[in-house]
This record gives sequence, C-alpha cells and structure tokens, in this order.
Amino acid sequence: MKLTFDAETESFRQTFVDWLEANMPPEAATTERPSSTADLPQWARDWQRTQFDAGWLVPGNPPEYGGQNATLIQQFIHNEVLATRHVADSFNPQALGIIVPSILTFGTEEQKERWAIPILRGELTAALGMSEPNAGSDLAGLRTKAVLDGEEFVLNGQKVWTSGAHDADVILTFVRTDPDAPKHKGISCILVPTDTEGVTRRPFGSYISPEDLDFNEVFFDDARVPAENLLGPLNAGWKVANGSLGHERAMLWLNYSAALDRFVDEFRNAVAGTDAADDDRLVDWYGSVAIDAQAVKLLGYRTLAKTRRGMIPTEQSILKLFSSESNQDAHARAIEELGALGLDHETLSGPFRHLHLDGYMNSWFDGYLRTFAGTIAGGTSEIQRNIVAERVLGMPR
Ligand SMILES: Cc1cc2nc3c(=O)[nH]c(=O)nc-3n(C[C@H](O)[C@H](O)[C@H](O)COP(=O)(O)OP(=O)(O)OC[C@H]3O[C@@H](n4cnc5c(N)ncnc54)[C@H](O)[C@@H]3O)c2cc1C
Repeated sequence: MKLTFDAETESFRQTFVDWLEANMPPEAATTERPSSTADLPQWARDWQRTQFDAGWLVPGNPPEYGGQNATLIQQFIHNEVLATRHVADSFNPQALGIIVPSILTFGTEEQKERWAIPILRGELTAALGMSEPNAGSDLAGLRTKAVLDGEEFVLNGQKVWTSGAHDADVILTFVRTDPDAPKHKGISCILVPTDTEGVTRRPFGSYISPEDLDFNEVFFDDARVPAENLLGPLNAGWKVANGSLGHERAMLWLNYSAALDRFVDEFRNAVAGTDAADDDRLVDWYGSVAIDAQAVKLLGYRTLAKTRRGMIPTEQSILKLFSSESNQDAHARAIEELGALGLDHETLSGPFRHLHLDGYMNSWFDGYLRTFAGTIAGGTSEIQRNIVAERVLGMPR
C-alpha cells in the first residue's frame, strides 16, 4: 500500500516549502534566545508577522486573521511541513495554538481587533491561566473567583504552571463566577491584561534547570478587569475550555511524531561507528522505536481521514498517549545506553537550533526531561488512559 496525497495537495505543499525557503530568517538573525514561551525577541516577532502578512501563519483562517481559508488537509500539510523541518511558526505557542482560536471562536468583534489580531501579528503575547494548585486534571474544580462589581470583574485567587505569564501581555484566565452552580456550570473566561493592579506573576524554575524560567504562579488580589473582557457568555467557560483544548489536541501528534523521527535519526548517528552499533539487543530495540515512529504516523493519518469525513476520531487520546510515551521511553533508554554522553547537560548554554522551539535542548538528558511536557500537559497519560477506557473501549466509569 502506498499512502499519498493528490497532486493538488502536493502542489500546495510545494508552494509552502518554496515560500518557507525564500522567507525564513537566516540563522545569524535568530541567535537571541526567547527566555520563555511568551518572550518574543524582535526576530521572532518579525518572523510571525511575515507569515501573518503572507497568509501562512494560520492558513485555515481568513486573510484578515493571517490565513488563506485553507482546507483541513491543507492545514495538515502546513503543520506537517513545519513539524518535519522543526520550524516553529510562533515562539508563543500557547497563544497561537489555544488562545487566539478561543478568541476567534467565542470573542466579540472588538475582542478580535483588540487581542486576536495583535497576538497573531506578534505585537502582543499571551499566557493560559487554567491550572491551579488544586485544579489540574480536574480543571472544573478551579477556585479563582471573579465577582461582577458595576462595569468590572474583581478577581481573587491563584493560578499555577502558567507558562510564560511573566513575559505575557494578557492571560486568558478561567474563573468561577457562580459558586452555587454545579462545578462545570459556574466557570467563565476572562482576558486579564498582566499590567492590571493586583496581578502578581512569580516565575519559577523547572526540573530542567533553575534558570529555565517559564512556569509561573499568578496571584489575583482584588484585580479589577473591565466586564467587556469576558470571553464568551457568563458561566460558559467550560465550553470555551473544551474548545481551547480541542484546538491544542487536534494536530499535537505531529510534533511528537517529528520528535520521534528526529530521535531515530540522531540516535543512529550517535551510535554509528561505536561498539553499540553491533549490539543485537540494542539494534532490536532501535528497530522497535523506528516501528513506533511509523505507527504514530499511520494512526495520525487515520485520525485525519476520520476528521475529514466529519467523524470524531476516538483515536486522538490513543495517539497522544502512545506518541508522547514512545518519545519518553526512547529517550530514557538512550540515556542508559549512551552513559556520560547522554548526561551531557548543555541546557541554556548549547547552540540555539535555528527556528526550533526547543532549540536549547542539546543533550539526550534534556530531551528526556522535556518529554514530560508531553505526558503531562494537555491531559496527563493517566487521564488519556481513562478516556481510552471509557470512550474507546466502552468500559464503565
Ligand atoms: C510543560 C507544561 C506546561 C504547562 N503549561 C500550562 C499553562 O500554560 N497553563 C495552565 O493552566 N497549565 C499549564 N500546565 C499544567 C497542566 O495543565 C497540568 O499539569 C495538568 O493538567 C495536570 O494537572 P496537575 O499538575 O495539577 O496534576 P494532578 O491533576 O494533580 O494529577 C497528579 C497525578 O494524578 C493523576 N490523576 C489525576 N486525576 C486522575 C484520575 N481521575 N485518574 C487517574 N489518575 C489521575 C495525574 O495523571 C497525575 O499523575 C502545564 C504543564 C506542563 C507540564
């Protein structure tokens, strides 16, 4: 069996590849590192703006929102080209992947003008305020509250894990607006500018390095935000949250698939010419990683085909689980096999990989640690297993 796209789709791919090659900033212009997922050095802002103006930033959007009304398959091709080349379209990924689509789906025309367009153009950056100390997997348990007082909401509470919040201009914040309603029904979503009085952002280091400052705790102490910053109807935040995460999940697998492919190439290069290359046990395991990489791709294409036919692909959770865990297992084994080479820890000191979102990950150890983002963020592996059990296998709760 040979899987191919039709000639028209391949021509779309070629047009995008040609455009990329002609328009990507040269490596020498991109050496300043983004310090967080909401920090855009000038070159990253310019790169995002270039794509926006050409209709290549979010091809599925209409031109006024950085697109060209591309079909689902064309959007997929665009994502596939970027993922396989490890080129990031935006260095504020939560904004492009989750926050902007939420504003475009649920926002008013004013909110689209005020927030979505400047974020798309790279003029503003955004963070996502969902998780709290006691509300992660169980997001509906969130307790940060907002009370309407005249023309303003008054916010009190705390968020955590808010990636890039200390560098962001605005936080899409999920709050409880009706404490008496059932927990899924009393949540709303508010755009909170980070310079609002009463908003405190405290970045903290990650397990990768104390200097890897992306996570934040965010505190709201009587922070007053105009009522017009409510996104979607009052108490309809659960719908916004589900829509937001749906955007995040749809083509996430492409990045895991590309990471696994890269692993297969780089591991082969790392052991080539060493004694390990003749170790049958290792070669056998390496073969199984290469098969996993292929299986991820086939499963991904299957979800794409189902989505195109208007079906809801239940494979989505299997795909997220399998691709993120395959990456993790592969990196864990690589560290064991490569010994000191695998532990060479160059975080934040190694060369920056051109236009690569995780460009500062330079050792197998870094790569392994970073795989936990895949098995936790966007729904942990345990939660994915629950979903597979209930929705795919039809097991009782
Ligand atoms: C790299 C990264 C970036 C992130 N960025 C953001 C961000 O920008 N904004 C934001 O709001 N959040 C962000 N998060 C937070 C992320 O959404 C949460 O970590 C995630 O939802 C899990 O929540 P938790 O950490 O509170 O863990 P918990 O929900 O407390 O879970 C702890 C453990 O219990 C397990 N568990 C929980 N419930 C069940 C269950 N019902 N059945 C079986 N096992 C269960 C979990 O799988 C996990 O192993 C980020 C996380 C990471 C790793």
